Amino acid sequence: MIYFISDLHLEESRPDITGAFLHFIDSIEESASQLYILGDLFESWIGDDENTPLQARIKKRLKQFSSAGKALFFMHGNRDFLIGEQFSKETGATILPDPSIIRLGKQDVLLMHGDSLCTADKGYIKFRAMIRNPDFLDTFLKRPLEERHTTARQLREMSQASNQHKNMEIMDVTIEEVVREMAAHKVNIMIHGHTHRPMIHDLHVGGLPAKRYVLGDWDKKIWSIKTDGLAPLKLELKAVSFRNDEA
Ligand code: MN
Repeated sequence: MIYFISDLHLEESRPDITGAFLHFIDSIEESASQLYILGDLFESWIGDDENTPLQARIKKRLKQFSSAGKALFFMHGNRDFLIGEQFSKETGATILPDPSIIRLGKQDVLLMHGDSLCTADKGYIKFRAMIRNPDFLDTFLKRPLEERHTTARQLREMSQASNQHKNMEIMDVTIEEVVREMAAHKVNIMIHGHTHRPMIHDLHVGGLPAKRYVLGDWDKKIWSIKTDGLAPLKLELKAVSFRNDEA
């Protein structure tokens, strides 16, 4: 089985989410051949040189998973885009560019985190370009961890303050951008997260029917997409409450 998850936003203050994630990995370990984490695994990531107990625990579990012969893929989210080579080595995860195309059940499937699709949010798109500027990041990563934490917190506060004045439509994906990306990559299936609006959307790309699968965030439920990867391709979007024993 092939699994897709995103937007766990793991952090110290939410041990329930960490527990749900460890439980999820246990539950899929036998059946899984591949796991794709499509961004925002962590609420914050300021460089691979940090190694908090939470980060160490998650990395160790991912390493066990990949060492058991499972293919593990990670795509950056807007919260953890500083995850790099060292994380990749420590977990056995292959870092995928955003966007990426994978072949499943004789079909090309477009994978994205989703934040770059929110083009109506002009302020965010500008902010994204600023924080992902290589010169900015180079300088940022050379600073001590403490200073990086302060900057990251300030950036999050700025972003939260500006989000309060935005309406819900602005913070969702722009459908024209979705269609443009899908047409540009010649796909009619897409999977992304980020918006915390889990749903399967039907749409048309170049006059042909298409589907957009949106993963949910792990605030109260384990959201995942599951497929055997065989043709005809069937993708199942699932939500399981944290207290439930199934995944
Ligand atoms: Mn995100």
